[in-house]
Amino acid sequence: MRTLIKGGTIVTAVDQYTGDVLIEDEKITLIGTSLDMSADKTIDASGKYVLPGGIDVHTHLDMPFGGSKSADDFQTGTIAAAFGGTTSIVDFAIQYKGQTLHHAWETWMKKAEGKAAIDYGFHMIMTDLNDQTEQEMDALVRQGVTSFKLFMAYRGVFMLDDGSIFKALLRTGQNGGTICMHAENGDVIDVLVQRALAAGHTAPRYHALTRPPRAEAEATHRAIALAEIADVPIYIVHLSAAEALEMVTEARDRGLQAYAETCPQYLFLSYDNYEEPGFDGAKYVMSPPLRAKEKQDQLWRGLAFNDLQCVSTDHCPFCMKEQKELGRNDFSKIPNGAPGIETRMSLVYDGGVRAGRISLNRFVELTSTSPAKIFGLFPRKGTIAPGSDADIVVFDPNRPLTLSAKTLHMNVDYNPYEGRQVTGAADAVLSRGRSVIENGVFVGKPGSGNFLKRATRG
Ligand SMILES: [Zn+2]
Repeated sequence: MRTLIKGGTIVTAVDQYTGDVLIEDEKITLIGTSLDMSADKTIDASGKYVLPGGIDVHTHLDMPFGGSKSADDFQTGTIAAAFGGTTSIVDFAIQYKGQTLHHAWETWMKKAEGKAAIDYGFHMIMTDLNDQTEQEMDALVRQGVTSFKLFMAYRGVFMLDDGSIFKALLRTGQNGGTICMHAENGDVIDVLVQRALAAGHTAPRYHALTRPPRAEAEATHRAIALAEIADVPIYIVHLSAAEALEMVTEARDRGLQAYAETCPQYLFLSYDNYEEPGFDGAKYVMSPPLRAKEKQDQLWRGLAFNDLQCVSTDHCPFCMKEQKELGRNDFSKIPNGAPGIETRMSLVYDGGVRAGRISLNRFVELTSTSPAKIFGLFPRKGTIAPGSDADIVVFDPNRPLTLSAKTLHMNVDYNPYEGRQVTGAADAVLSRGRSVIENGVFVGKPGSGNFLKRATRG
């Protein structure tokens, strides 16, 4: 099977030029000008950008939550991702207390099998660390699960103490894995939540008011300090507070390998959304919470100057009906999470590139190249080069798109950006050479996504 993409503007993290891309089976085999070999299929990309497929390294598909689960499974979630121009995800498998890591991995592999329409990998969430778990980390790294997520919040559920976190960090010094950290001071937050509820403060906005920016900054600082003592890199997930970014910047200025991602919701939504009438603030209940609007510029600066390396989504959708509603009388019972897997590329292009905050190359780097490099997928993914997987997005920089739950494909009954107009959207999307999106229609196949065995650091 040969596909030729003709006349587009090829954009990578470093280059931008007009050219043709030849795809044979699953790989890019040739890039040139005026390629005129025969092809089974030709895509005219004139006037469009030809981008490496987006890589979203933070998603929660089919994630159990208090008897229910996140509203997108690996089928609906990966199809929505493809519509938005994302061709690889790294989701989170969860080790619950008393379980082995291997059991968790197998469980999540089964969730994706036969359903995923694009390629997928897994981080492993560790909630129970003992000698056996530490050895299992090495085995998982060899099997391509090369990153582990730990929590500094949610005591009794996900949270690990500093000693356990330190042991896991040390272990990655030997096995080449990477620790990803949910950095919030959980114990402080728990006290604030109890006091708010005792005072009768039950509305959604108290979710944000009980998770202050400094609780995120403190944990971010502590996580980086523990990694510094262990002499290993660390990756902070879903950084939302400018105060936490200052900690990352300070560490990077000292030469430490501290990395961090932020998410579109922290760039385009703010605390003000919690003040929406009635129970609508629940749409935005996620952790860490949305922050003050005036702090967003600092996050954009972090993205522009590489103190933040990735934009991921933390896609974890829950419907308002029956799911978010569980917390109508108690904000602490509102399921944490929001949809975003489909809207990431268009939002960051529109609010980043078109608004003049980041370059087109930086857009590609933040949404594809840098996640691929940090999480062991580069150069197979994350760029357009001969030998790389043909994960390609033909992106129309002038196409208007209205973000709405009615027209998007995520399996959830609201959209946090409802009615927002953006310009720039994916026209055609290829995953390993196969068309998955064409003329606004999904033409891929559930189950055709492959498990991504990821490489270790270096
Ligand atoms: Zn998450």
